[in-house]
Amino acid sequence: MCVSCGCFRSCLERWVMPISKSRKSPFNAGNERGGDRLLQIEAVYDKVPVGLCYINRHGVFVTINDQLSRMLGIASELALCQRIEDIVPDHAPLLRKGLEAALAGLAIPDQQIEHCEDTFMVSAAPVMNDLGEFAGISVAYTNITNMRKMAEKLWETEQRTAYALESAGQWIWDLNIATMRVWRSPQYRILLGLDPNGADSESVAWDIVHPDDKAHAIQAFEDAVSGRTSHFEAIYRVPRGAGGNAWILSRGKVVEYGPDGSPLRLLATSVDISAQKRVEEQLSTTVQLRLELEQKLLEANRKLKNQSERDHLTNLPNRRKFSHLLKREFVRAIENADTLAVLMVDIDHFKAYNDFYGHLAGDKCLVQVGRALNKVVKDSGGSVARFGGEEFAALLPSIATERAADIGGRMLEAISAMQLEHGASPSGKVSVSIGMAVLDEAHRVAVPGPDDLLNLADSALYESKRNGRGRLSVWGAFTR
Ligand code: GH3
Ligand code: MG
Ligand code: MG
Repeated sequence: MCVSCGCFRSCLERWVMPISKSRKSPFNAGNERGGDRLLQIEAVYDKVPVGLCYINRHGVFVTINDQLSRMLGIASELALCQRIEDIVPDHAPLLRKGLEAALAGLAIPDQQIEHCEDTFMVSAAPVMNDLGEFAGISVAYTNITNMRKMAEKLWETEQRTAYALESAGQWIWDLNIATMRVWRSPQYRILLGLDPNGADSESVAWDIVHPDDKAHAIQAFEDAVSGRTSHFEAIYRVPRGAGGNAWILSRGKVVEYGPDGSPLRLLATSVDISAQKRVEEQLSTTVQLRLELEQKLLEANRKLKNQSERDHLTNLPNRRKFSHLLKREFVRAIENADTLAVLMVDIDHFKAYNDFYGHLAGDKCLVQVGRALNKVVKDSGGSVARFGGEEFAALLPSIATERAADIGGRMLEAISAMQLEHGASPSGKVSVSIGMAVLDEAHRVAVPGPDDLLNLADSALYESKRNGRGRLSVWGAFTR
C-alpha cells in the first residue's frame, strides 16, 4: 500500500509520476494496454491550455500537468503525493468540497477561484476505479482572467451605453426584416414609463406605433429598405405607460444584407421628442396668435388708412386721396405719353340751398350729388372724390379730350336727371358747374405738374360759373 495516498502500489506507480516524465517507466513496458492508453492521454495532456490534475479520494495529488504547475506556480515533482492542503492551501477547501460532493454522489458545481492575479474556473468530475468505486476527482483549471476582464469591459461598455442612452432619452432597436420582429433596448420601457419587467422587449415592428402614424412610419421604413432613401427617419406617437402619447423620432439604417443584396437588419435609435414637440406646438400657437394679431392690426390699419382717405359724409375718397391719385396718374401719363383729364365740380348756389333747406338737407344733397357723379365717373373707368365743401373732383385716365368732355356732359345730365328741388336757385333745381383740363400731347408743356392741371381745371370751373353755371368748360378748348 502507498503510505501517502492509501492506494495499492500499482495504482501509485501508475498515477503518482508526473505524466510527462512517465514514458520510460518500466511499468509502461509491463502493461501494454494500460501503457498505450496512458501514452495517448500523455500526448495531449501537457498541450491543452487547461490545467489538469487528478486528486485521489484522500486529497492527494496523483497527477499534475505542466500547465497547472505553471498556473499555480508549483513544481509538479514536489506536489505529487502531497496533500492538497500542503501544496495549494488556498484552494484546498474548494477541492475538499468537491471530493466530499463526489464521494456523496453529488454533482460538483463549477467554481471560480482567484489565484495571484488570475481567475480560474475550476471544474471537477469524479473518477471511479475498475471496481466502480470512487477513486478521486479529475480537476480542470481554466484561466478565465482575460475572459473575465473582457466581460467586465463589456459590462462597463454596456453600462456606459445604457447610461448615455437613458440620459439622452434614447433607446436602440434592432429589426429583423425577414420576420419583422424587433428587439428594443431596456431604455425603451424606462423612458416610456412602462413596466421594466414587461415581456414585450421583442415584438412586431410597428405594434407600438399610434394607428394614425403607422402608415407614414411604414412608408419611411419601406423607402429605407428599398434604397429610395439612404436612412430611415420617422416621427410618430407611441403610448406612454402613464397614459397619453410620447412623440418619438426614429433614425436608422440597414446594417446587414443577404448574399443576394436583400436587406436583413435595420438598426435604429429612437428618442422621445415630446418636450420639443410641445415647444413647437406652443410656438406654433404663438405664431398663429401673432399672425392673427398681425392680421387684425393690418385690418385695423387698412380701416384707418381707408378712413383717413375717405370722406365720412359721402364715403367718397377725400381730397388727400385725390391728390395722391392725381400725382400717381400724372406720372403714369407722362411716362406712357398718355392722357389724363381732371374735372372740378361745384354745386351751384349751395350756400343758398343750406339757407333755404337747412344744413342737414344740405348734407343729404351733397351725398346724392356725390353718388350720381361717382356712378358716371366709375362707369367710365375714372374716380371721383369729395374735394372739399360742396366741390367734387374727378380723374379720367387714358381718355381723349372729347370723350372726357362727353363724360363731363353726362355728369351734368346725371345731376339734372335727379331733379332735386332748389327753391333758392334761379333754375329751381340743383345743378353743378364743371371745369375740365386735360393733359394730352398738345398741352404737355403747358402742364408741368399735377397741381397745374388742377389749377387749370379750376380756372375752367370759374369760366362755367361766370358763364351762367350748370355747364362744363374745358380749359383751352370749348365750352358746353
Ligand atoms: P356758387 O354757385 O358760386 O358756387 O355759390 P355757392 O353758394 O355754392 O358757393 P359758396 O362758396 O358761397 O358757398 C358754399 C357753401 O357750401 C357754404 C357752405 O355752407 C356749404 N357747405 C360746405 N360744406 C358743407 C357741408 O359739409 N354741408 C353742408 N350742408 N353745407 C356745406
Ligand atoms: Mg364752392
Ligand atoms: Mg358752389
